[in-house]
Amino acid sequence: MVQDLKGNIRVYCRIRPIFNDEVKTVIDHIGDDGSLVVVDPLKPQKDKRKIFQFNHVFGPTATQFDVFRETQPLIRSVMDGYNVCIFAYGQTGSGKTHTMCGPACGLANELGINYLAINDLFQLSDERKDIIEYRIQVQMVEIYNEQVRDLLAEDLSAYTNIQSFDFLTTNKLEIRSCASDGGLVLPDATMCPVKSTTDVINLMKLGEGNHAVSSTAINNHSSHSHSVLTIHVHGEDVSGSIVQSCLHLVDLAGSERVDKSEVTDDGLKEAQYINKSLSCLGDVIAALAQKNSHIPYKNSKLTLLLQNTLGGNAKTLMFAHVSPEGDSFGETMSTLKFAQRVS
Ligand code: ADP
Ligand code: MG
Repeated sequence: MVQDLKGNIRVYCRIRPIFNDEVKTVIDHIGDDGSLVVVDPLKPQKDKRKIFQFNHVFGPTATQFDVFRETQPLIRSVMDGYNVCIFAYGQTGSGKTHTMCGPACGLANELGINYLAINDLFQLSDERKDIIEYRIQVQMVEIYNEQVRDLLAEDLSAYTNIQSFDFLTTNKLEIRSCASDGGLVLPDATMCPVKSTTDVINLMKLGEGNHAVSSTAINNHSSHSHSVLTIHVHGEDVSGSIVQSCLHLVDLAGSERVDKSEVTDDGLKEAQYINKSLSCLGDVIAALAQKNSHIPYKNSKLTLLLQNTLGGNAKTLMFAHVSPEGDSFGETMSTLKFAQRVS
């Protein structure tokens, strides 16, 4: 893996495949497949190209396993006591959920990083069982309009038949700003002990379902909220020394700019919250990359929640997702610029 010279921040770019019905919308394509974005390790200069460089670039043919393989060492370091944050950034439809979960969170050969990571952590825990005893626990929340909500709350199924308003107001969590003392950032979010990958898959399904409760209530909700799956690892070796760390796996809300004339007041409010939290995330990572003395974690719930995995000894990986079709030109440029700024 490439070690970023600016510290523990890495940026990988992933370009999703172009779909057949998108080719006709290409306005000024570069790639043979009609794509606007190409991976070119040789960096030849051609007139129309704007060149961006990242720690790794995955083209449209990269498999889920290719992506996982480049991420695995980072994931494994959680078992050695490092806090790790992996997040997927990009416009809606660019492949964030595909990378993190996989399509519809299910097909075996298309499983995303969430599943492959957890599977790998259990495997490592098994390999080390004679030296270290690990305990793994999971929390899953979403941030919507600057409110944090528990996606694993047991009684959440009770909310399925009531109005979205009730769901939104009943289930709010406070974030404790305690990254430095090693305490829990979300002490009130349901913490589920897990013993196998199957346990985690079942929990993720529950979480996804709870996400979906609101997605019927609020139009296209899942693209408008940040979804955070946190794996807490606690290990104790034979001498009694302890490692404690966590891995945040984050599927961010879509980064697209919203046209004010095309949304309702609620839609505009959502978009403003999303823009604010994503730009705060960019500010925090850019401040870390520049080794600034002040890191503005407190400016959004998202950065406050992820604080213990951004900066210090923590390792951070951003996936910048882009769509290759011509219509996405503006959003693709803005994602690549965002990613360049933090890398
Ligand atoms: P986002 O979460 O960013 O809104 P999705 O992950 O839902 O985007 O991707 C949009 C569509 O494109 C989905 O149908 C998804 O399965 C498909 N897709 C995204 N990335 C890939 C990929 N690398 N390979 C194949 N299909 C992909
Ligand atoms: Mg998505």
